[in-house]
Amino acid sequence: MISVKPRCRDFPKHRQRFTITLGILLKTDIIIAGGGPAGLAAAEVAARRGNSVLVLEQNHEIGSPIRTSGGSFIDELEALGIPSRLYHPISGLRFCTPHNQAAYHYPTPRLCVIDVRGVFQFLAGRAIEAGAQIRLATQATSPLIEDGIVKGVRTAAEDLASSIVIDATGYRSTLLKQAGLDPGIRRFGVGAEYDLYAPNCDESEALLIAGSDFAPSGYAWVFPWGRHRVRVGVGIIHPDSRENPGGYLDRLLSNLDRFGVNLKGAQPVEHHAGLIPSECFAAKFAGHGILGVGDAAGHASSLVGEGIRWAIQAGRMAGEVVADAIETGDVSRSALSAFESRWIKRYGKDLRIAHKLNERLSAWDDRKWDERLEVLKLLTPDQFIEALKTNLTGGWLLKFIASNPRALAGVARLF
Ligand SMILES: Cc1cc2nc3c(=O)[nH]c(=O)nc-3n(C[C@H](O)[C@H](O)[C@H](O)COP(=O)(O)OP(=O)(O)OC[C@H]3O[C@@H](n4cnc5c(N)ncnc54)[C@H](O)[C@@H]3O)c2cc1C
Repeated sequence: MISVKPRCRDFPKHRQRFTITLGILLKTDIIIAGGGPAGLAAAEVAARRGNSVLVLEQNHEIGSPIRTSGGSFIDELEALGIPSRLYHPISGLRFCTPHNQAAYHYPTPRLCVIDVRGVFQFLAGRAIEAGAQIRLATQATSPLIEDGIVKGVRTAAEDLASSIVIDATGYRSTLLKQAGLDPGIRRFGVGAEYDLYAPNCDESEALLIAGSDFAPSGYAWVFPWGRHRVRVGVGIIHPDSRENPGGYLDRLLSNLDRFGVNLKGAQPVEHHAGLIPSECFAAKFAGHGILGVGDAAGHASSLVGEGIRWAIQAGRMAGEVVADAIETGDVSRSALSAFESRWIKRYGKDLRIAHKLNERLSAWDDRKWDERLEVLKLLTPDQFIEALKTNLTGGWLLKFIASNPRALAGVARLF
């Protein structure tokens, strides 16, 4: 067996290492199960660092079927290098509770709704440009484990060897669990959504709707994403509630005029359904030869079930850690756990508080929602964005309390 740099034209720019015997590819540096934002972001970074990277995606298309509503924040996406043509800016946000509402206006838009397929395929393009390979319609069924170390993955057709495996399979955490690293996710946001062609809907305003009429233990949303398209959905936390979001979604659609949303002439173009972990990130998401990223490791913010940019951030961080591990030849848990410590250091506090808050919000009844919205009304539009972004330990909260003493009791009640 010899280790060579590839000479084929497919990989001209990179110092990629493939172990090749008689021209047959036997071992890849890094195999990534899952071609969602987490897996693709990890693939790009690891490949840019000169590693051979193979992404396995079980579906026939990256970014399809869609399982997300795509709400995000313009500054975060800009920082991640997502081009503005792939998101629709929103200049107004209304938060409605059964008998109350707060409206926030953004002359310079800060929120946006992404073109999900467009963004995920953009990330795929970046990974490919960096030298990663993508194999569609290939499901990773189990990790290959030898002496307690993950050494590749099994698919329906073959066993694929690698130095490191990244589980980016989303909420199922398929490989982590089988490798004995159960991330312990037992609480999920269960979502159902229509993507409508709605020629008369206001495309500049998004809505969040809380309360038992439309989303017991969760919330509903109206997210326009441009070109007359709007995603209307309901997410319910299980097992806090056992209700099915589908029935609430139909009820919401026939009552949206109550919120001033004009669906005259609207018809569904797509139906989406999905789960998002509603836990704090896993206690352990690194093992010998394996890492978990994105929803697979509970990296999303459970405050409002926002995970796309978190998945990209987690993927990029994981990509650096696996590249370091390959460089030093140490793929043990102790080397890979650098990912855990970096993640916790950077995002741990905010995500832990977000999870605690979400557990409380999920238990609020209609009266509490109406009452506590009064506290949220004290926030400026920008402060509301910081809260939604899960920036919960930033100085803005202290400044808010200092400049608004009425808020202190309210914030205390909120927590
Ligand atoms: C209803 C709903 C609404 C949401 N709304 C928002 C929102 O507005 N904003 C936001 O930021 N986030 C939202 N999220 C969360 C967001 O979609 C996720 O946090 C994010 O997509 C996680 O990215 P990921 O790459 O970790 O996982 P995923 O996006 O789930 O990607 C995992 C990929 O792995 C593939 N896969 C799975 N198993 C295997 C396997 N065994 N082998 C090969 N491939 C496999 C899947 O097909 C998929 O392509 C929402 C989620 C849901 C369910």
